[in-house]
Amino acid sequence: MSEYPSNDPRDSSLPSAPAGLRRRLAELRGPGTAPRPLDARALAALAANPGCDRRALLDGAGIDKNALATALGAPSDAGQSQFAFMRGNAFEARVKADGGAELLRLTHALLGGGPAPAPASRHVPDLAARGPEARTRRTAEALREAAGREAWTLLDHPMLALDVAGSPAYLEPDAVVVAPDGTWTVVEIKSFPMIDGAADPAKVGAAARQSAVYVLALEGLAETVPTARVRDRVLLVCPRDFSNLPTAAPVDVRKQLSVTRRQLTRLTRVPDLLAALPEGTVLDPALPAEELRSAVAAVPAAYAPECLSACELAFHCRASARSGDEVTALGRAVRGELGGLATVGAVLAAAHGETGDPADPAVAALRRAHRLRGEALGGTRAVGALPWAAPRARTAQDDARAGEAA
Ligand code: SF4
Repeated sequence: MSEYPSNDPRDSSLPSAPAGLRRRLAELRGPGTAPRPLDARALAALAANPGCDRRALLDGAGIDKNALATALGAPSDAGQSQFAFMRGNAFEARVKADGGAELLRLTHALLGGGPAPAPASRHVPDLAARGPEARTRRTAEALREAAGREAWTLLDHPMLALDVAGSPAYLEPDAVVVAPDGTWTVVEIKSFPMIDGAADPAKVGAAARQSAVYVLALEGLAETVPTARVRDRVLLVCPRDFSNLPTAAPVDVRKQLSVTRRQLTRLTRVPDLLAALPEGTVLDPALPAEELRSAVAAVPAAYAPECLSACELAFHCRASARSGDEVTALGRAVRGELGGLATVGAVLAAAHGETGDPADPAVAALRRAHRLRGEALGGTRAVGALPWAAPRARTAQDDARAGEAA
């Protein structure tokens, strides 16, 4: 399964930035706090919530969001149980057994790439090297060799580097397959099941975002190899139904690729986000929780339920969104439908005709829905009779209806 390697320990918080900016980012992290390098999970999460300034700033500054969430009293539940970890490793070993025979067969069956992978045409190069930089060089070398071979090559846990705002982030996909026709395919092996050919869409989405980061890193490398072409469809391998046998499906990651590209360019706009902060804001997890809470609140967030599976700060941001009565806690779709109405209070007031422009389509739709609901319930609903409002008192009409029904 995907591991997130310990990255280069150098300062990766926008190292190409001017000294003043880097000093300010160091102040933001707190004295003596080393920046946390970006990894595939962090880069993928940027694509999960592209509108969030809080996340962009925290990642741009290299702040440890896990430590921050714990200090805020809302620790993330991210992480795998030891049992799940071992089960995942056993499944991955099974998928890659026998020189990757089954994995190459699945790749060929679902994505093509040349003649079927016969045992004599399979290669699994040794990618061992000391440290991430050496492993990245070795991976690049193996990819170039594979490109000239016109055979099936399986790169098991290669190391790729992606330039993020001037600093390398080292990434380790589960595998990359080079086909005889020169195509490079990212393979993501997950332990969640694919039942009747379909897997949990949220988990597939997370895997697609993560794979898109690997595709992006591979694209940079492929530019130096004339015959190479990186597929924008990755191969997702999962256990079939409730067994431990592998099955696979191609996943189109074009959308995730473009969002990730855009998000990476946003990281270089961290100075704008910094400039909007109150003077002296510090996000050091060592600060008292109350002080930290108001510092974090100074950075605008865009909470969505999707954050729960993508960001370490999700429990904190969800609690803030709920206590602020924000409709964003109900999901992006609801938020989009409500236009400029950002709080549940504003929605109720608009539905009840207390506020809002009747020409606003969202306001008009809310009032109509409110009226129709009132009619459907016998015209007895008073103000506050929306689904999320407090339950109304029982009326004489209700009693009469209940009597008739009996
Ligand atoms: S959990 Fe908070 S910081 Fe993380 S992406 Fe969501 S809103 Fe942004």
